[in-house]
Amino acid sequence: MAEVRISSLVKRFGSFTAVKDASITVNDGEFVFLLGPSGCGKTTTLRMLAGLEMPTEGRIEIGGRDVTYLRPRYRNVGMVFQDYGLYRHMTVFENIAYPLRVRRMTRTQIREKVGDVARLMQITEVLKRKPDQLSAGQLQRVAIARMLVRDADIFLMDEPMSHLDAQLRGLMRAELRHLQKQIGTTTIFVTHDQLEAMTMADRIIVMRGGHMLQFATPRTIFERPANEFVATFVGEPQMNVFPVRIEARGSGAVAVLDGTDIPLDPAWVGANGIASMEGRTVRLGIRPEHVAIRETADERHPLAAKLLAFEPTGAENLYVFSAGGVEITTRSSTDETASHSKEFGAPFHLGLDPNWLYLFDPDDGRTLAYAASSRADDEGSAPA
Ligand code: ATP
Repeated sequence: MAEVRISSLVKRFGSFTAVKDASITVNDGEFVFLLGPSGCGKTTTLRMLAGLEMPTEGRIEIGGRDVTYLRPRYRNVGMVFQDYGLYRHMTVFENIAYPLRVRRMTRTQIREKVGDVARLMQITEVLKRKPDQLSAGQLQRVAIARMLVRDADIFLMDEPMSHLDAQLRGLMRAELRHLQKQIGTTTIFVTHDQLEAMTMADRIIVMRGGHMLQFATPRTIFERPANEFVATFVGEPQMNVFPVRIEARGSGAVAVLDGTDIPLDPAWVGANGIASMEGRTVRLGIRPEHVAIRETADERHPLAAKLLAFEPTGAENLYVFSAGGVEITTRSSTDETASHSKEFGAPFHLGLDPNWLYLFDPDDGRTLAYAASSRADDEGSAPA
């Protein structure tokens, strides 16, 4: 078990910078996710932690020890990669035993250790098989067992669930989270799947273009995103974001979209200094679940909309509307919207819940005002 400290870490490949000045501390025993789109630098960061890639600048400490330029085998790090890296000519038992053989453990010790992790991962019955005689789910279990067997200081996992079907992924998410808590070893997990990160992580590092944008709990990331990119990267369907003009109305303010006033909560306006944005165009954000739909207009549903697409998902209905020149997606329970028209072009009126609005800076995307109802249990920490 160990704390992982990354300070001012930079990785350049020629003139291209894959990781830009990253500084974070992962606590002992924490399950931390590196989340971001393809090419944002997640794998490069993980490979530097493993010692497979040397940093251009900066420092990496594991358990208080400077390992920045240490070779992988001196780091005591356990890893699972996307392709699992199992030896095809060896049985499952031999694959799992391999890291122990390298360390010259006795046969009895090896049998015991492999038996323990095999039981934990429920693969005892396939120990004599070769990797090509296993299902995708079993292969993944074997790869994890091989990572677990060596009592590493930290575990690193790079998209280990990408070969599993949706149902198995769901099961493994819960199982892996439970396992990590049970074993208690600091684990850093790379994924581009926001659902995986949101359901499993203690804390998430959201990356984009080599930058670490936010490092916080899933709830903070969801409710208090640092900027528009983080806000739209987590949550499915993604947050609606569109330009509005802030205008004063009496002692308060509204957000104007194509001539329609979207009411803002006066207390929220006051607490965030929104009145001082008078005349400014900013970006307004609202998640699909916080947009209410009606077939007739009223004070709370002022925004005229036309239905562009309807997508039933079973328990919920997703609608995509055109309103005020922008597209707005909504998510409602099937019961609530049972009687509503599903016809293309059908007229509707939308209401944006004033408790769940966000404002973003149109230039740099930074969050100017969080939703009034977002009350994250902790503040998380932005990377320095
Ligand atoms: P993915 O999910 O697609 O694996 P990622 O976030 O893990 O994406 P990285 O693999 O870390 O991304 O790559 C970050 C950037 O660095 C990419 O643009 C990639 O092309 C580049 N890169 C990675 N390794 C090298 C290398 N050895 N030489 C040159 N460029 C590299």
